[in-house]
Amino acid sequence: MDVITTHTNADFDSMASMLAAKKLYPDAVLVFPGSQERNLRDFFIHSTLYALEVERVKNIDLQEITRLILVDTRQVSRIGKFSEVVTRPGMDIHIYDHHPASAEDIHGSLEVVAEVGATVTLLVQWIEKKGLTLTPDEATAMMLGLYEDTGNLTFPSAKEEDFRAAAFLVRNGANLSILSNIITRELTAEQVFLLNDLIQSATRYRIHGVDVVIAQAAVDRYIGDVAVLAHKLMDMENLDALFVLVLMESRVTLIGRSRIEDVNVAEVAAEFGGGGHPTAASATIKGTALIEAHARLMKVLQETVRPKRLARDIMVYPVKTVEPERTLEEAGEILTRYNLTATPVVHLGKVIGLIYKQIVEKAVHHGLKRSPVKEYMTTEFAVVAPDAPFSRIQELIIGQNQRLVPVMEKDELVGTISVADVMRGLQEDMLKSGEVFSAPEGQPLYARKKVLSKLMEERLPGRIRTLLDEFGATGDELGCAVYAVGGFARDLIMGVENFDIDIVVEGDGIRFAEAFEKKVPCHVRTHKKFGTAVILFPDGLKVDVATARLEIYDAPAALPTVETGSIKMDLYRRDFTINTLAVQLNPKAFGELIDFFGALKDIKEKVIRVLHNLSFVEDPTRVFRAIRFEQRLGFQIAKHTQNLMKNAVKVGFMERLSGGRVLSEFTLILQEDNPTPALKRMKDFDLLRFLHPQLKFDEEVERLFERIHHACSWFDLLFREEEYERWRIYFYGLADFLKPPEVDELCRRLSISERSCKATMEGKGRGDQVLLQIYSWITADYQPKRSEVFTILDPLPTEAKLFMMAKTTQTVTRRYISLYFTQLKDTRPLLRGTDLIQMGIEAGPSIRKTLNDLLKARLDEQVATRQDEMDFVSRGQRMGSWTTPM
Ligand code: ATP
Ligand code: MG
Repeated sequence: MDVITTHTNADFDSMASMLAAKKLYPDAVLVFPGSQERNLRDFFIHSTLYALEVERVKNIDLQEITRLILVDTRQVSRIGKFSEVVTRPGMDIHIYDHHPASAEDIHGSLEVVAEVGATVTLLVQWIEKKGLTLTPDEATAMMLGLYEDTGNLTFPSAKEEDFRAAAFLVRNGANLSILSNIITRELTAEQVFLLNDLIQSATRYRIHGVDVVIAQAAVDRYIGDVAVLAHKLMDMENLDALFVLVLMESRVTLIGRSRIEDVNVAEVAAEFGGGGHPTAASATIKGTALIEAHARLMKVLQETVRPKRLARDIMVYPVKTVEPERTLEEAGEILTRYNLTATPVVHLGKVIGLIYKQIVEKAVHHGLKRSPVKEYMTTEFAVVAPDAPFSRIQELIIGQNQRLVPVMEKDELVGTISVADVMRGLQEDMLKSGEVFSAPEGQPLYARKKVLSKLMEERLPGRIRTLLDEFGATGDELGCAVYAVGGFARDLIMGVENFDIDIVVEGDGIRFAEAFEKKVPCHVRTHKKFGTAVILFPDGLKVDVATARLEIYDAPAALPTVETGSIKMDLYRRDFTINTLAVQLNPKAFGELIDFFGALKDIKEKVIRVLHNLSFVEDPTRVFRAIRFEQRLGFQIAKHTQNLMKNAVKVGFMERLSGGRVLSEFTLILQEDNPTPALKRMKDFDLLRFLHPQLKFDEEVERLFERIHHACSWFDLLFREEEYERWRIYFYGLADFLKPPEVDELCRRLSISERSCKATMEGKGRGDQVLLQIYSWITADYQPKRSEVFTILDPLPTEAKLFMMAKTTQTVTRRYISLYFTQLKDTRPLLRGTDLIQMGIEAGPSIRKTLNDLLKARLDEQVATRQDEMDFVSRGQRMGSWTTPM
């Protein structure tokens, strides 16, 4: 007798595989070795498509079995009673399985084993190869197994083979709507209660730097499908690794799920006599209390979880070093300049000691500043390799009080780790540990690895995606990590269009840009001093490239002195948490989102928050930026951040800002779609007086701003594709309430040169004159010709015209300006200069004049056709002299 069987607690994949095996072994008997999962039982109860004839295990005479066909398992402990026959001499065993190998594996004369998503895939491959056909019912049932084990083909475990098998099943009539009904079956009330208990008890543990969540519960009777609940919990909380312990009927069911390599749940389950895959496994623990099972699990985790955070992840590089012959004074300068507590002493490329700042200071105090470093350095110290685990470093720095640990790769010094770096690591641990569902106020719940490639696929135009791919590829060529950072990443998450790309390169940004220029048509400008470059593309797109840098601020409010460093440091130097997101672009990690400082949480909660208390001291322009982002995004500046802003204003840090920096931030505010709320906010923070003591933003100015906004919106709707600088119009608005010498002072404060101040304000002055001119027409009840309207408005800059439109209270004036933009501005005569020459007009100034007269005639609707224009010109010629025809 041939018997087809599977593992106990059979699920859809086992059932599907048995059904498929029956196709290959038509004479075999199907037997479940034990219980089935609830979903599967329900399926049997409800399904009319049920085509399986299953024999009960107790009706089987084990002695009669000559061939055992095992599907979806090959572990001797998982096949119930059939384990008794596997070692019998002469027993033929065929195996179809997708689980990884284990120590208790049965071996057979035929083994079809591969790590595909579902076992049924392996059998379907054979069915297809042999040219067998399936009924739609059979195909549907098999698809069910395939779907369940591959999460509808979305799990990473799903392989190409699974998709092919699915295609074959669909071709054979698998009914997908039946499938979705069965698979998304609701939880029972009992399951919901259990899930809730699990959620409540879920606790995060940090094991060798890896986050693992354990949830546990006890129930007084059997509840099926705990695995489904584990799965739900995992999805709901987006966990990396989860263990669920449920005590029922005097035994503990252990379910493990993991998405990360650091935690292999099959290995853990194996310690409890269970099995499964590295990503999904289970075990049953008999005769134990929950608390005991939990303790054992913790112990097993300590042994099996591999550390994630290593020395290389927290070290700082490149390293500042001193030579042994340098004086203590020189060493002190380096330590102070880079704000270090200690630094390695290097001789001929070898680290021979550490020199501590504390020692240097004491020695200098005692008049020893000329002494060489080597006399005061510490020579007893430990070093670590880049892959040393965090725990080892913690032990050295905190346990043994070695305040600086050099990181050595072979004989080369590749980085250092200081107390501060360890503290940062520990702080991250603290933020990430604790209860899963509560996090300290204002802190990230826990850093999750999120991959945005799908989002990028959906939200970015192809042109931008290709560009990002090319950046990533260039990074790989140079062996450095490349990220898109700041506003671009923020807006990507928020679903706001922004193609203003900022790139950060962990390495040399300039070399990167230059390498990029060799591959892709573009033009590169570099700033050696800052390690930055701008890539300009023929279509006008502009990308900023920066070098991941460890900025050292020489003095508050001054420009930074730049050093090379790593991405985390780069992000730490940024203005607000919401601008600290980075998206990796290198092909292997494309779209991976880096969120060190809780940016996602703050975006979700709509908060503008600085990263540390000295932020506004380092760079007071951030005060303006905070306001701009708050108003543009509709966010709130966090309370503490507001206090820091007020403090920066009060203590007088704003005064230290150079005019140029204020101007660029202030124009950015005025350039916003509607700057009114931001100006009101500036008023709240008492910021306007830094621009000019007389500058005000009262209701009158506000009304003017609103009218400017209105005029700009109107103009934008005309789609005139005409560039204009919105900020200038608002600037006119502010200046309108100042006296001319005050405007000059304002320009001086903003470092606007006298010349460009004059040029700017001249536009406004001419606009004001034209307003008066139009006003005099109105009071005289004079109806100007269209050409007259054109003549007075055309020479003014667009900004001045739009400002007039906002400033005037006369509807008629607005109508003239509107007439100008919508009808007059684009009017051109049909005849060209060459036509006129052919008609006998002398080349030279008369051509210009004739064209001008023609334009006026056309504006005033005196000519319509080309012939009209030619007649108009001939008439003028006949008259001999050129006067504007009436
Ligand atoms: P926008 O959409 O207005 O361009 P943005 O976030 O891209 O917003 P940018 O002024 O273009 O702002 O600056 C790009 C990035 O550089 C910011 O996201 C921020 O991370 C960083 N940044 C800019 N200015 C500062 C500053 N003064 N201090 C710290 N970081 C800054
Ligand atoms: Mg930007």
